[in-house]
Amino acid sequence: MNTAIATRTYENLIDGRWVGAQDGATFERQSPAHDLVVGRYPQGGIVDLDAAVAAARRAFDEGPWPRMAGVERSRILARVADGIRAVADDLAYVEALESGKPISQANGEITSSADLWEYAATLCRHTYGDTYNTLGPDMLGLVLREPIGVVGMITPWNFPLLIISQKLPFALAVGCTAVVKPAEFTPGTTIRLAEICQAAGLPDGVLNVVTGPGSVVGARLSEHVDVDMLSFTGSTAVGRRVIEASKINLKKVELELGGKNPQIVFADADLEAALDAVVFGVYFNMGECCNSGSRLLVQRSIADSFIEAVVERARTVPVGDPLDPATKVGAIASEEQFGKIMELMDAGRAEGARLLLGGERLATEQGRFIQPTVFAGVEPTMRIAREEIFGPVLSVMTFDTAAEAARVANSTQYGLSAGVWSRDFDTVIQMSRAIRAGTIWVNTFMDGYPELPFGGYKESGLGREFGRFSIDAFTELKSVQMHLGPRTNWWHRPAGEAAR
Ligand code: NAP
Ligand code: MG
Repeated sequence: MNTAIATRTYENLIDGRWVGAQDGATFERQSPAHDLVVGRYPQGGIVDLDAAVAAARRAFDEGPWPRMAGVERSRILARVADGIRAVADDLAYVEALESGKPISQANGEITSSADLWEYAATLCRHTYGDTYNTLGPDMLGLVLREPIGVVGMITPWNFPLLIISQKLPFALAVGCTAVVKPAEFTPGTTIRLAEICQAAGLPDGVLNVVTGPGSVVGARLSEHVDVDMLSFTGSTAVGRRVIEASKINLKKVELELGGKNPQIVFADADLEAALDAVVFGVYFNMGECCNSGSRLLVQRSIADSFIEAVVERARTVPVGDPLDPATKVGAIASEEQFGKIMELMDAGRAEGARLLLGGERLATEQGRFIQPTVFAGVEPTMRIAREEIFGPVLSVMTFDTAAEAARVANSTQYGLSAGVWSRDFDTVIQMSRAIRAGTIWVNTFMDGYPELPFGGYKESGLGREFGRFSIDAFTELKSVQMHLGPRTNWWHRPAGEAAR
């Protein structure tokens, strides 16, 4: 494996200045595929986070950003998109090293991130309110749309640049300011993004980044009284903690959480296409993906042959060094995550599921790798059917009727996304209606467009990101009621007093 990998040292951005932690503390990130230190970061604490919030507060209350014409904000966001593209290869390299994901997937993630900034740039000029000219001759109603204020953003390690790009450009588009806390495992590209934003002309204090432990920096950001909104992507468990902390000042909370997403394959589907999408859907990003198609529901009449084909296809998926362009499945991001996957695979065996492939750590000299895994004979009550594994593990179940498939699909706490595979029009429409999830893919899987809202039903989240819906997310509405002409409807005027 690669021994030329260097350690990079990063600083936080607070109020337009690059700084270490106030107490000088640092932490390191090792590449999960190479066991080499690839990043050294300030270990921020409460003092650092408070300074970042104060800067974002000042930039919002007094600075130019919320007051700037949309066209000027738009130009800056478009320059950020160009800036991302200009260093795309390096960003992908950092992402692959810190997260363990294959470089080919990291490249795709960086391209999609730039696209999100480009799309959000158009919203700067498309953020508008409403008027009511129907309230009578002496009244005009205006609905002003205003930025919500300082937004705290907390992101996970699985798609670091992509997920911050699902939040930050949309919040900036409407005039908010931000404090970002990236996951400790993967802060590199978020800090590089802050450099790009600065070079693009984002005023000081509008974007602040503080690295450090979630239990300290993230918790402080969640409870901070000068933060108006919190946008969090991560696990459902931490999402609950964030809500708990946010109650101090009743800040608005938007959550993108976990998933246990079914891919439902009917006998009449294009089975070749479904096969590829099932294998992609579960092993993409090592299964460390909120949208992972981690449950396969296959119609009983084709189950045996389809499951066999899945196993054969999964057996040939290339696992290995994320920096190898041919790799499809890289390293597991952390020891903690690795342990969780191993534990759930053990639970699958113990609860009686049939292990058809994998189930083991791969023997490698460095790093943590898990072989693509398939369990069949899974029952909806088993842990591997209900819990988010966040690893390359597929749980296969069978069904007879569409109604049964919908029931099983809906039988978890989650409701993030689902895939439906059938050539029958009625089937795909009825399944799309029946499944309680924020995104349904029909004869495709895991596409994404900045135009379309994204988010979870049930315990997969709160609120929606993307598209014009993100304008709603990051704005407040203010009603201005304006009286016109002489006032006629006095509440009380003493007898005999004339109008002045
Ligand atoms: P996580 O453990 O919930 O962490 C997410 C973020 O929260 C990290 O930055 C973490 O910081 C921080 N954090 C930890 N404790 C905190 C606390 N008490 N208060 C505030 N913040 C705190 O999730 P993860 O393990 O990074 O990511 C995997 C999860 O994210 C999965 O459940 C996955 O489904 C979900 N996810 C959802 C989506 C979606 O859009 N729905 C997308 C991607 C991932 P540190 O890690 O630095 O300590
Ligand atoms: Mg975690």
